[in-house]
Amino acid sequence: MELGNAPVQQIHAPLFEQMEVSVFVKREDLNHPFASGNKYHKLKYNLQEAKKQGHDTLLTFGGAYSNHIYAVAGIGKAEGFKTIGVIRGEEHLPLNHTLQSATEFGMHLHYMDRSTYRLKNTEKVKQTLQNKFNDFYLIPEGGTNGLAIKGTSEMLKEESNYDYYACPVGTGGTVAGIIHGLNGQGKVLGFSALKGNFLIEEVTNLLTQVNGQHLKNWSIKTDYHFGGYAKTNFELMDFMKAFEEAYDFLLEPVYTAKMFYGLFDRIEKGAFQKGTSILAIHTGGLQGRAGFGLAH
Ligand SMILES: *Cc1c(COP(=O)(O)O)cnc(C)c1O
Repeated sequence: MELGNAPVQQIHAPLFEQMEVSVFVKREDLNHPFASGNKYHKLKYNLQEAKKQGHDTLLTFGGAYSNHIYAVAGIGKAEGFKTIGVIRGEEHLPLNHTLQSATEFGMHLHYMDRSTYRLKNTEKVKQTLQNKFNDFYLIPEGGTNGLAIKGTSEMLKEESNYDYYACPVGTGGTVAGIIHGLNGQGKVLGFSALKGNFLIEEVTNLLTQVNGQHLKNWSIKTDYHFGGYAKTNFELMDFMKAFEEAYDFLLEPVYTAKMFYGLFDRIEKGAFQKGTSILAIHTGGLQGRAGFGLAH
């Protein structure tokens, strides 16, 4: 499965005119019905590697609302893999939209209590899973590894003439790939969907893994997490609703709404010089809207 290049569209707002900036959106949300934007790019080389190593099963980890779980189930099916999702916490029935869809894609769900889940990267837990499921290709939680960064570094292969690139950040694999792929061109702004500053160090580590430690044209904005991962408030939801009314596409509250909120806020605060062009990456994930009771 090979995807075409996701389209870019310009969006307009009185604010942009007033501040004399132009804003474009890279519509990765359109790239695949269940690959969920950036997730296809993160999985692409991992699936190639799994095939090369002769595995017929993918195993990965995630929470009950994870876009990554959904994407592994969907793309895994499309590429002829069996898939196992190790889900944090206990089973809740009926299954939510994410897990129901994953099951329909053929994923086997394996629930893991939270204290064991915290140890999921240890040899001991891996051994337990191997005893239970025999052979599998392991993809880490969130899907970020060296091969994922190789995939995301190709996301902007046809877009490299903007002054700024804006991208939401979860584990940092997507933004690290974008920084790596641009190889010093422009400035990359990551908007953290999680609370805290740890992602700055994490992205530095990920760049080091791909010999991109010399790249300094990036920063992570840590003020737009709205209380933490998957947390929202009325202000964010109002912003998202107004955004969706103004433009002809949807966002979701976990990543993309926070990025656009942060980007609009930075523009309003005069963070960009007149004449600046900004490409915001819509990383998809719209299946996650169902967890907030929104149509998707
Ligand atoms: C997973 C996801 C992200 C975060 O990507 P990372 O590579 O983990 O930083 C951003 N946006 C959406 C919509 C996602 O599903």
